[in-house]
Amino acid sequence: MKTMDEIIAFCKRRGFIYQGSEIYGGEAGLYDFGPYGVELLNNIKKAWWRSNVQLKSNYVGLDSAMFKNPKTWVASGHVGGFADPLSECKNCHTRIRVDKELAKINVAADEKMSEKELQEIFDAHKSQIKCPSCGEKTWTEPKMFNLLVKSNLGDFTEQNDAPVYLPGEACQGIYLNYKNIVDTCRVKVPFGVAQIGKAFRNEISPRNFLFRCREFEQADTQYFVRPHENEEPYQKIKQERMDWYVGLGVNPENLRFKQHEHLVFYANDAWDIEYNFPSYGFDELEGIHDRTDYDLTQHMKYSGTDLNYTDPGSGEKYIPWILETSVGLGRMFLTFLCDAYTVERAGDGERVVLKLDPELAPIKAAVFPLLKNKPELVAKAREIYDMLSQKMMCEFDDNGNIGKRYRRQDEIGTPSCVVVDFDTLDETSPNFGTVAVRNRDTMEQVRVKIDELSEILDRLA
Ligand code: ATP
Repeated sequence: MKTMDEIIAFCKRRGFIYQGSEIYGGEAGLYDFGPYGVELLNNIKKAWWRSNVQLKSNYVGLDSAMFKNPKTWVASGHVGGFADPLSECKNCHTRIRVDKELAKINVAADEKMSEKELQEIFDAHKSQIKCPSCGEKTWTEPKMFNLLVKSNLGDFTEQNDAPVYLPGEACQGIYLNYKNIVDTCRVKVPFGVAQIGKAFRNEISPRNFLFRCREFEQADTQYFVRPHENEEPYQKIKQERMDWYVGLGVNPENLRFKQHEHLVFYANDAWDIEYNFPSYGFDELEGIHDRTDYDLTQHMKYSGTDLNYTDPGSGEKYIPWILETSVGLGRMFLTFLCDAYTVERAGDGERVVLKLDPELAPIKAAVFPLLKNKPELVAKAREIYDMLSQKMMCEFDDNGNIGKRYRRQDEIGTPSCVVVDFDTLDETSPNFGTVAVRNRDTMEQVRVKIDELSEILDRLA
């Protein structure tokens, strides 16, 4: 069975993910995407964008500035209420997130409960909660801790008495631009806006690798509907999001829906798509929220700008209701990577193979000369590599024996390896002008004409 420790070690070893600021000892909750990681990340973003913008005639995209007028975060409720319950070990001062620690001992609690409710539950159970650092079980009273990260953009007083905030979530930029989009883009309700953007949270205990970070990216869609016309599109969006993961190869047995038990006061409904992460078990991958008119009403109140929508046919005026999907890129990355990571028997030994959908694979094709010490094979392989890399991410490799080169590409999920051999150059051979193309999953080879190679590989990816 695969474990998260194995996946973390793999990510470092093969240049997918590095601990942030590692040479300084590492920073909690920060990670860097390495050379293969950034390719996989970008391919996930492209696939998400294609599904949520390109293939949907009534969705448009956006990329809003990270810094926003500070009132944004007051209106959204983040300044007042974007907080997690924190308690500190009386012995070693390690901080824990109370609701998550209670959940670990199967006591239902979440950050949406009132401070008083949480305090009562924590008091009743805190003697069972062991400090993850020193093992003691003595805790301070839980306090709500605001997760917004402050900055000082444009504030030169060094007092920071009027902080601007880094985004606590990416989607606020969509609400701030809703009117611009309605006024300039010929969209009509119902319509959607999609955005990928950074978010920052002062998470009390960043943990579980990419799962809970202090800096991460979110991919959000906000679908604007006429009031009370939310139910049907909500069900459709929920199913579409689930189908998207399955369509890109995630095993449906590792995915499930979970409805929220506690809703924030304005919400109609909220569901998560959960993934069965190795070692961690099922946990939230993506949130799908039916948010009524809360967001636009709040921004209308705080900005003083009329955010009513006027129906172009009937002239009816209303504040649209919003259906939201929100997913962290890190959690998506981990989902696709964990699901694809496979250790299987091959020949006399084992191979690690990343069975990623070709659309997501960091490298689409690797080109090898059969032998390194045959200049004519190397030259032809280089020529093919130069041709293919105009169209797709490719790698050239002539290092080590061919079996090792295959294994290296299997590990990073490259769908096809292209081998230039003696037949390729031998005018008397029926295989003259062809190369061997080896499939990552079946390990079978077919001969392909060099002239057709680019088109065939392009179709695969
Ligand atoms: P959680 O309950 O795990 O803290 P949340 O319900 O607060 O998550 P949202 O605010 O709804 O999460 O954020 C939407 C999505 O952003 C989540 O479904 C998740 O994929 C991602 N996300 C949230 N917090 C983090 C984090 N600290 N690190 C990485 N991804 C995150």
